[in-house]
Amino acid sequence: MFNLILFGPPGSGKGTQSEKLISRYGLKHLSTGDLLRHEITRNTPLGQEAKSFMDKGSLVPDEVVISMIGSALDENQDAKGFLFDGFPRTSTQAEALDKLLELKKTPIAVMLALDVSEDELLKRLLIRGETSGRSDDTNEQVIRARIKEYHDKTLVVADYYRKFRKVVMVNGEGSVDNIFQRLCIEIDSRR
Ligand code: ADP
Repeated sequence: MFNLILFGPPGSGKGTQSEKLISRYGLKHLSTGDLLRHEITRNTPLGQEAKSFMDKGSLVPDEVVISMIGSALDENQDAKGFLFDGFPRTSTQAEALDKLLELKKTPIAVMLALDVSEDELLKRLLIRGETSGRSDDTNEQVIRARIKEYHDKTLVVADYYRKFRKVVMVNGEGSVDNIFQRLCIEIDSRR
């Protein structure tokens, strides 16, 4: 198994690169953002709870996302490996993920962290808002709240994996294909 975390602020290109990476490496994509939006579309109790946080640009409570990831891991016992996108986003989530993976005896191989300047992030998110149909991408205040959550709660997740020497920074600016190549080089050197 090969498990990887694609890390970076909102708008850093995790979703775009994840799609390309899962198709090249045959990994199962686990995006908590996508899973939560799916719950909202189906109007489940979990979706209803998550929506109020997501609309404000706040993180959804840890226990909600952790149990959602736990179920997703159980439902994909045969996966060749997992690509975690948008998860873990707090140190509590990182510790919980390690415990879940310990049970499966399959650790995180690497965290690839996309590095993108703040100006570029804001620009990309506002452009994405014109077409994504995501209400959290159209309001500048909500975008700023998401970036603040990232700085306040999510950046420490990289420190957590740094302790285990698992973090690799990757330049997240340039063309989609160039960034993809940079990510592939890092993965290929570790498989
Ligand atoms: P982005 O990275 O552009 O913010 P996501 O789709 O990853 O987009 O996340 C959208 C929203 O979903 C976040 O603002 C947050 O409210 C919620 N969310 C996604 N993943 C998590 C997570 N791991 N923990 C808590 N909240 C999450």
